[in-house]
Amino acid sequence: MVEKKDDCIFCKIISGDIKSEFIYTDDEIVAFADIDPQAPVHVLIVPKMHIENLNKANNDILGKCLGVAVKLAGKQGISDQGYRTVINCNKFGGQAVSHLHIHLLGGRQKLWPPG
Ligand code: 5GP
Ligand code: ZN
Repeated sequence: MVEKKDDCIFCKIISGDIKSEFIYTDDEIVAFADIDPQAPVHVLIVPKMHIENLNKANNDILGKCLGVAVKLAGKQGISDQGYRTVINCNKFGGQAVSHLHIHLLGGRQKLWPPG
């Protein structure tokens, strides 16, 4: 776990090196819209600290990130109809960006199993 990794796209977004609009920010967490949305609401909740994946995360930051996801679901108006939170981990989990993030997906019916 490091503060910032130079070749990490999410670290660049968090530091402002890549301009991005934040839906939410606090001391430890930011949230922004996914560039390739898979649902009408597709937000990424991201710790500011460069944590590679779920295997490297501690319960404190995981709890905070999940709490932000629930809060943003309320703000986006998708709490009652329902939504999905996803954390992809490593290759078989389908993780493309190696900086921990929670996907918040809502606004359409989801299928199960996810594939
Ligand atoms: P993963 O597959 O790692 O769980 O998800 C990575 C997500 O990051 C993908 O949904 C992808 O669309 C999104 N993403 C990748 N690059 C960027 C970017 O530069 N900006 C934003 N907003 N999202 C990105
Ligand atoms: Zn990073």
